[in-house]
Amino acid sequence: PELKGNIRVFCRVRPLLSNESGAVSYPNNGENIGRGVELMHNTQSYSFAFDKVFDHSASQEDVFTEISQLVQSALDGYKVCIFAYGQTGSGKTHTMMGNPEFNDQKGLIPRSLEQIFQTSQCLMSQGWKYKMQASMLEIYNETIRDLLATSRTSIQDGAASKYNIKHDANGNTQVSDLTIVDVRSINEVSSLLKRAAQSRSVGKTQMNEESSRSHCVFTLRIFGVNEGTDQQVQGVLNLIDLAGSERLNKSGATGDRLKETQAINKSLSCLSDVIFSIAKKEEHIPFRNSKLTYLLQPCLGGDSKTLMFVNLSPEVSSTSESICSLRFAARVNSC
Ligand code: ADP
Ligand code: MG
Repeated sequence: PELKGNIRVFCRVRPLLSNESGAVSYPNNGENIGRGVELMHNTQSYSFAFDKVFDHSASQEDVFTEISQLVQSALDGYKVCIFAYGQTGSGKTHTMMGNPEFNDQKGLIPRSLEQIFQTSQCLMSQGWKYKMQASMLEIYNETIRDLLATSRTSIQDGAASKYNIKHDANGNTQVSDLTIVDVRSINEVSSLLKRAAQSRSVGKTQMNEESSRSHCVFTLRIFGVNEGTDQQVQGVLNLIDLAGSERLNKSGATGDRLKETQAINKSLSCLSDVIFSIAKKEEHIPFRNSKLTYLLQPCLGGDSKTLMFVNLSPEVSSTSESICSLRFAARVNSC
């Protein structure tokens, strides 16, 4: 199906966990995928509509089915960005990574890699040869960390001089010193994901708090050449688990904590500034105002394709955050 504009918004509501009580309802369907979502807050009811709304019962596979074509377009040479936006605990990481060890819990990253790999194998019979390269990084406090680095020290190494972002004239992005992994077989896909999961858990004790405050960017670059026709394609798939969107309490925050709060607020608002200026076709798009938007510059706007998941927690206590997320998503949806 044709993409409406260049940006679409899907909403996903996670299930209630034990001891939670819910505030979200879905007015228009008995199925697990609809278009509307409703919330009750202080006796007022709020309703929103999106391209798709996945309710609590939608599986990882249900979600992937709806985006598999978009993922596929990266093989056709498109630049694709898929974001997960929402407060901490709303299901962003579950949606993006899930648990790669269990088939039914795999998120979009393992599923996309597997699909792209399988399709590229099929296209070999039509003369296509593909080279694929993966990288995975985290942006915390405007500092990049390499999640695929093999040694522990380099994971923790956030020296400002490392990981400089450069774009060449063809819109190819290079991040200096970043680990790039060739993906040549389905086995390499799973070892890559294990490596990413490992580096995240290695850092977990100190980064536990920080992980909800950092953006995680998975990038797959695809280079295709057809040996019969000499046709060439270069596509990019970016899957981005954004920092928690909750409004952070600034009162009492000092020093590092204040700096961190400002950095998160700044980079999420830079992303929305960029999205809205692209939609308004403004002459100056403020890509350079944050590491995330600068990194993704060649993949946002133009003929690239963007999808944003707004993840929601169904809890009553999350209602006001959910309304904020939904209002933001509704603005993006109108782009
Ligand atoms: P976030 O990354 O937004 O902070 P998580 O993805 O870590 O949120 O989700 C919070 C909790 O809810 C985790 O324990 C996760 O396993 C669970 N969860 C999230 N989405 C789902 C879902 N669709 N089905 C089942 N459990 C989910
Ligand atoms: Mg998370």
